[in-house]
Amino acid sequence: MDEIVELIERNRETLQPDMDRVREAQRLDAVVFAVWQLMRILGVLLLQKVLTGRDQAPVDWGRCPHCGTKLESRGLVPRQMLTFLGMVKWVRKLGRCPKGCKIGHVAPLDEALGLGSRQRSCLSIQSPACLLAVFVPYALAARILEILTGVRVSEDASWEWVQDAGGRAKQIEQEQAAKLQAGCCTQEGRDPEIDKLPVVTGADGVNAPFRVPPGEERPGGKKTIWKEIKVAVLARLGQRERKKDGKQVPVLEQRRVVAVRGEVEEFEPRLWGEALRQGLGSAANVIWLSDGGAWLWNLLGRLQARCADTVTILAILDFYHASQNLWKGIEKCFEGATQAAQAYFEDARHELRHGDPAKVLDGLKAALGAPDLTEEARTLLSNAYEYLLEHKDHIDYAIFKKLGIPIGSGFVESACKWLIQQRFKCVGMRWTEQGFDNLLYLRVAWVNGRFDQLFAAPGDRLARAA
Ligand SMILES: [Zn+2]
Repeated sequence: MDEIVELIERNRETLQPDMDRVREAQRLDAVVFAVWQLMRILGVLLLQKVLTGRDQAPVDWGRCPHCGTKLESRGLVPRQMLTFLGMVKWVRKLGRCPKGCKIGHVAPLDEALGLGSRQRSCLSIQSPACLLAVFVPYALAARILEILTGVRVSEDASWEWVQDAGGRAKQIEQEQAAKLQAGCCTQEGRDPEIDKLPVVTGADGVNAPFRVPPGEERPGGKKTIWKEIKVAVLARLGQRERKKDGKQVPVLEQRRVVAVRGEVEEFEPRLWGEALRQGLGSAANVIWLSDGGAWLWNLLGRLQARCADTVTILAILDFYHASQNLWKGIEKCFEGATQAAQAYFEDARHELRHGDPAKVLDGLKAALGAPDLTEEARTLLSNAYEYLLEHKDHIDYAIFKKLGIPIGSGFVESACKWLIQQRFKCVGMRWTEQGFDNLLYLRVAWVNGRFDQLFAAPGDRLARAA
């Protein structure tokens, strides 16, 4: 403690204006902020003292990696860095080769502190800045950070930190993929109770706005191109008691997301890797839920083939999409008789939901034989019939319901909204592919509980990733 007293004594003049502000502040909030500011400045002074003190012991400089000559000290050289407390300056010993080899900085303290030679800010400020940017636009993230800490951070700096952290996330992802390729997959730790629950999964696509790259201008000067982001959710299907009526309702546990800008070829291995990490191969039951998009069912077919030896995936067509297609097929068959169409639809929908889907299919088939249908009505009806026929194994809703299995893919569609829409599709936003990907990696890392590992020491990072 004497050290702190001495530190204050020695920096009396530096600290005085901030102490005066504390004394002069009137309202409680003003006093609190003034004290915070004073403590922060004191913190910077303490940090500087501690860091400078760390480099007092004599150093064994070792040998030049280039020519093998014993290195020698070039004395104390200042270093400065932006931290959570503000800008911090200290001095540390640098070594050099007496023969003048260009071997870069040799700074034992930098290494011990985990600092790169070009680094200008430390993870203590980068990580909260990145976390804020996961949720709000960069400029706002920088501003909020300044309000909370008193440290000024530029929008550009917080953007750069996200690019760095996103790059690290991508690297971890690639290491995982390589391990998987080599046939080794580490599952994520789970509660044994959660492990007994069925896996529920599904995927969907959502568009996001991108900048037209320079040199690829579009006719009419269009500035935005829309690209699809493929999103999957993997979770365990649990149940909880609903407070108001004591009924058991489904709830998703251990929810993980996979999101990729690009084609299904890039999406599929990521989804498969995450599925294995979440124990798909050893799950008692696996349920797939999605709308009728052809790419989704082709993808499912390949996933089923991959795990056919260990588990059967129960596939369900989202009920809302099924009934929507049913309505599209029926609507035009009643030419102006909207009420009759509505009544037929309600009955068919009810049968589909609670009864026998084969009856619904039979009904549609019979209707196709009616002689007085217009060509348009017949085409639409036939489309709906074919659609449901193709999915006849995926529409046993009454049975699914009896088994306590959800029949809606709303959990995937809502993931598209909160994962992509909320951050990437705000007014006026347009992204570069790389800028989008880096932030998406971070957002996904946050949702999947893997954000902290991006800011851990490299050794820790691997341990935590496992
Ligand atoms: Zn040398």
